[in-house]
Amino acid sequence: MRASVLRGVGDVVVQERPVPEPGPREVLVRVTAVGTCGSDTHYYEHGRIGPFVVREPLVLGHEAAGVVVARGAEVSRHEPGQRVSIEPGVPCFVCAQCRAGRYNLCPDVRFFATPPVDGAFCEYVAVHEEFAYAVPDSMTDEAAALCEPLSVGVWACRKGGVGPGSRVLVTGAGPIGLVATQTARAFGASEVVVTDVNPRRLELASELGATGTVDVRESAIDFEPEVLLECSGAPRAAADAIRRVTRAGRVVLVGMGGDELPLPLSHVQNFEIEVTGTFRYANTWPTAIALAASGAVDLDRLVTHRFGLAGVEQALTASARDETAVKTVVRPQE
Ligand SMILES: [Zn+2]
Ligand SMILES: [Zn+2]
Repeated sequence: MRASVLRGVGDVVVQERPVPEPGPREVLVRVTAVGTCGSDTHYYEHGRIGPFVVREPLVLGHEAAGVVVARGAEVSRHEPGQRVSIEPGVPCFVCAQCRAGRYNLCPDVRFFATPPVDGAFCEYVAVHEEFAYAVPDSMTDEAAALCEPLSVGVWACRKGGVGPGSRVLVTGAGPIGLVATQTARAFGASEVVVTDVNPRRLELASELGATGTVDVRESAIDFEPEVLLECSGAPRAAADAIRRVTRAGRVVLVGMGGDELPLPLSHVQNFEIEVTGTFRYANTWPTAIALAASGAVDLDRLVTHRFGLAGVEQALTASARDETAVKTVVRPQE
């Protein structure tokens, strides 16, 4: 099969690799669509993310969907031909975190496109049958792939306790901010205000359900949220937004930016604000698929650019080159 391989910083090539052999509980999936993520671009540009360092050639891409074409000997799910959305991290199932239901915190998780585990910018991947989720035929391949970033939004809303009537501030209208916005509305939030510095993205946020937008280059945030979903990864923007959070509010840090964040400590203490990090997600796929299938969340609207496997490098650099880019998708069969 053809696979797009990151050989080093700024060096991606298409190579021939053997089609993976599915293990006993794995299905072999012909990959139809893969979203590109900021983390893929980060590995391409820097060769590492924090403690994860690319030491061997690595296939990037972890937001994937496809069609089941073969099954391991013990697989009971998914007949060949079934379209699936792939959850890209398979945990150990037995450690304390897994047994507590927090499998996203499993220290032994094997996660696509995180060294040394290969991702999905290739024609076929093998994945545990329980981590391939059937999607309805009404859902596009691209929407099925983007259930991965949608899961990040679902997890953020759950961690923030977003529910009916919630007042939510979303900082950053990139793909994650836009799915978090839609998920918050779908969870019943009555107000969702979105901030960014890109007017085009703020317009899209409005179209997708934001009840208000703020271009923070021009105006200050005049809104007191109960929940802040920080999706910008910009330390200054995060600190400014935390100052707006109301008493007993919650701050969910989703965006990945600087290593440190100046915390407005007296505000956090005097208002008893809870601040939490998020790491990926757990038990989100059924919700993500339901939200996308019902139309409560529109994932197709996020896709602005498409490339075949030979275009992975362009896909990884699209958002740096083109400010109209929101979500770029790679179609490995093309
Ligand atoms: Zn991602
Ligand atoms: Zn585990």
